[in-house]
Amino acid sequence: MKILLSGLNQGLTQYSEDVSSDFLPEKWRETYPETLHCAITVDRFRRELRVRIHLDVNGHYRCDRCLADFERPQRFEHEQVYKVGDGPDPVDDDVIELPADAVEIDLQPVLKEILILNHPLKLLCKEECAGLCPGCGADLNKEACRCDEDGGDPRWAQLRKLLK
Ligand SMILES: [Zn+2]
Ligand SMILES: [Zn+2]
Repeated sequence: MKILLSGLNQGLTQYSEDVSSDFLPEKWRETYPETLHCAITVDRFRRELRVRIHLDVNGHYRCDRCLADFERPQRFEHEQVYKVGDGPDPVDDDVIELPADAVEIDLQPVLKEILILNHPLKLLCKEECAGLCPGCGADLNKEACRCDEDGGDPRWAQLRKLLK
């Protein structure tokens, strides 16, 4: 995904592009294996380009509680400012400077950053996921806990007697 600087007008320009996630590092490619849908607005004012990115992706996640795989569509938004060439005005830390003779902006590093920065800290297949029983390992979303059954293993029965 690249923005060509030559012929890019002052003011707003909009793009949309479907980008393969092949460029991502392997771990992230597994999480976001499908096409990334990018909608991009570039606001150019002289040497400053304000690039607003809406990224629609389908995350392939694993639930933190029950370890089930699940998919969830996500929409992430991000703005990145670029400055082309040198100028008298100071440049903020979060602005990316480009050489005066730059012909294009490669958005792949920014797309990667958006996915990593927005990766959900807590992943639950559903808000009320009951998780796995720490005792018997039953998936409590689908089955009942077996901790109270005597089962076939006499060691457990023995242990339970001791605990009573
Ligand atoms: Zn779950
Ligand atoms: Zn249990």
